[in-house]
Amino acid sequence: MIPLLEQTPDQLRDWFTQHGESAYRAGQVRRWLLQKRAVDFEQMTDLGAALRELLAGEFQIWTTRVAAHHESPDGAEKLLLELGDGQSIECVLLRDDKEHCTACISTQVGCAMGCAFCATGIDGFVRNLTAGEILEQLLQIQKLLSPVGGDSRRRSGTDSDIGDRSRLLQERSKGERLSNIVVMGMGEPLLNLDSLLPALSEATDQRGLGIGVRKVTISTVGIPEGIRRLARDDCQYHLAVSLHAPNDELRNRIVPANRGFGVAAIMAAADEYFERTGRRVTFEYVLLADVNDRPEHAEQLVRLLRGRPALVNIIPYNPVAGLPFQTPASSVTARFVEQLTTGGLNVIIRYRKGDRISAACGQLRRREKRTGKRE
Ligand code: SAH
Ligand code: SF4
Repeated sequence: MIPLLEQTPDQLRDWFTQHGESAYRAGQVRRWLLQKRAVDFEQMTDLGAALRELLAGEFQIWTTRVAAHHESPDGAEKLLLELGDGQSIECVLLRDDKEHCTACISTQVGCAMGCAFCATGIDGFVRNLTAGEILEQLLQIQKLLSPVGGDSRRRSGTDSDIGDRSRLLQERSKGERLSNIVVMGMGEPLLNLDSLLPALSEATDQRGLGIGVRKVTISTVGIPEGIRRLARDDCQYHLAVSLHAPNDELRNRIVPANRGFGVAAIMAAADEYFERTGRRVTFEYVLLADVNDRPEHAEQLVRLLRGRPALVNIIPYNPVAGLPFQTPASSVTARFVEQLTTGGLNVIIRYRKGDRISAACGQLRRREKRTGKRE
């Protein structure tokens, strides 16, 4: 069986012409899958029955299986997906009160970067995801959305006992569309650009998922060469660099991959990204109690970023079982932020939605492993 989502639009067109069909059929199949949320060929009713049968015998639409599905009262839903080779990855649907539906997707099984505080980093690197596997996460997440112009009863039946969901449910009854993508799940996206970029172009294509390029955020540990490649492509995605420390000495300790690059080289690449694309870069900073949350760290961060068209995203740490890091007290976080804003930086604080379903990357996969539910 050929995995359908691994096929480029050109390859799919070729298949149809080789089978005596119009290349136009390839577009129909893509529309059914990506826009009309079909889950099998049977639903593609404007293709003849014989062609549907031929397609079903030749192509496999789904290569992943939902091994676990967790919902949180704030509307976040997390999927643990089992891949064809038995490995597993996570992806998350986040809903906000502005009717945004954001998909958080993974790019690798595990991660080689080994950040000291990250659940994915502990397990090491297994393999890159394919373009089809990256795209399939978006389709699995789309299945969780209530259909546009459809019937929301299927969902509300299961959720009706939870009072604080009523507003969210009301919104869902209008139908939901995926509006944003954040590449912030498991793995380092810039070390798998050959799969990520084709998947994102399907996601942002008007004939694909139709998500605006400016609604896509790629978060990276900071691989200068990868940042430069994105800058040269001028693809207009939003870039977020996981800085987490204002100097090499501290960053080498908590983000060991920094030893190979250094903060200065990452900043130079981020500057080039801004110059080429005109898009302001976000610097993520996970606050770890007594590690990178001191006044001198805030002061150094101000010196590093002042004058740059940057946004600082402060992320309170989401504790990982077995790791020695803690979330700072809210007063410490507030003081840190205050120091940055006084220093002239633009700052936002991101409280992670879905904490109760282990939304920080790699945590659900670890939990399922430990409790022996699988593997
Ligand atoms: N590898 C990429 C993208 C995935 S991680 C990167 O590092 O940017 C996405 C973001 O979540 C990164 O900023 C990462 O540092 C942060 N993160 C990882 N574990 C976390 C945790 N336990 N609590 C809060 N943020 C975490
Ligand atoms: Fe990898 Fe990102 Fe986790 Fe670091 S924070 S180990 S780069 S997934």
